[in-house]
Amino acid sequence: MFMSAASPTALFEGQVPLLKPWLGEEEVRAAAEVILSGWICQGQKVMEFERAVADFVGAKYGVATNACTSSLHLSLYLSGVRHGDHVVMPSHTCMATANAVHHAGAEPVFADIDPRTYNLDPESAEAAITPQTKAILLVHQIGLPGDSDAFRAITEKHGLALIEDGACTLGGTYKGRRVGGLGSPTAFSFHPRKMITTAEGGMITTDNEELAEKARMLRATGASISDLERHKAKGVLVQKYGDVGYNYRMTDIQAAIGLVQMTKLETMLEQRRDQADFYNRAIGVIDELEPPYVPDYATHAWSSYLIRIRENARISRDELLKRMADRGVSCRVGIQPLHHEPFYEARQGHLKLPASEIRAKDTMFLPIYPGMSEEQQVHVVESLKESLV
Ligand SMILES: *Cc1c(COP(=O)(O)O)cnc(C)c1O
Repeated sequence: MFMSAASPTALFEGQVPLLKPWLGEEEVRAAAEVILSGWICQGQKVMEFERAVADFVGAKYGVATNACTSSLHLSLYLSGVRHGDHVVMPSHTCMATANAVHHAGAEPVFADIDPRTYNLDPESAEAAITPQTKAILLVHQIGLPGDSDAFRAITEKHGLALIEDGACTLGGTYKGRRVGGLGSPTAFSFHPRKMITTAEGGMITTDNEELAEKARMLRATGASISDLERHKAKGVLVQKYGDVGYNYRMTDIQAAIGLVQMTKLETMLEQRRDQADFYNRAIGVIDELEPPYVPDYATHAWSSYLIRIRENARISRDELLKRMADRGVSCRVGIQPLHHEPFYEARQGHLKLPASEIRAKDTMFLPIYPGMSEEQQVHVVESLKESLV
């Protein structure tokens, strides 16, 4: 009943899913070509994909990895973050962001968000700076760019590095420029939940040539020469190891899928924008609900659509979620604060970040994805209205 014309699959039949990747025959063909070519690991396709993403965001270099987590890890390490350092970051984000800080040997210092944008609050971040702080990790959350200039000013004032987590904000703009091209190393994710997908995958975009070159080495065991370069040189080149590296490589199969996804990105952004406009209009007139806020400096990539349940609602957020599920609409609770996760409670004690805590309780995600029909959106809005009475 509520199937998308783009890629009907039995998995989603009869319900509106929270999200769905937009993949088709073109991606299948691109992946098949790579498989049949005989070069399936990191090679030419990865280089082309890096160029496509870097050009799109307006950065000089792109360095692909196997996930955003590893892109963040390398960005932190290459920005000078070492064992025992502190990294100021939001609590209101994906655990992966904090995991990357931990992998770099540093401790996340959680700061609060702006309760309207769900993005890191500059004042709270500045107040969280300690003598051990080496960097601020700005997360551009759920498709909405954070206030990049404010964080650039703070990091310059305190002599800190700025790293950006753009995992779900490919295509979002800040003062007319795309996230990833704002001047600091930025990590993207290509997990199915993000703007484009390669199943798993990530990328660092940067204007810093040295950082890009070192990231290329570290993602591939730390070798000074890539497999592709050695292959082209017919085996006469011998690699050197100047640092301990990782296996953070992306495959050419993934990159080929990513290249096709990049050709669809503008269309996907447009669809998400139209879907968000539709929700904004419909939800703006429901008393109990508040649509997302977008500050003047940003355009939203709408990787997610997060609504707030106002205090006047007669049912709780959790009851609303349950009633939506009963109507075949898959929603999800808003972002849960990391400082309340068992790992960080045990490490850092009981921290208070009021805005992050309130928004964890009074927000929920609605379905939004390319290929979602207007009929499905109408069903979501009608279900909300029915559920709220
Ligand atoms: C998804 C996500 C990540 C992790 O991305 P992976 O590619 O799964 O490693 C990191 N940060 C944010 C904000 C995310 O949404």
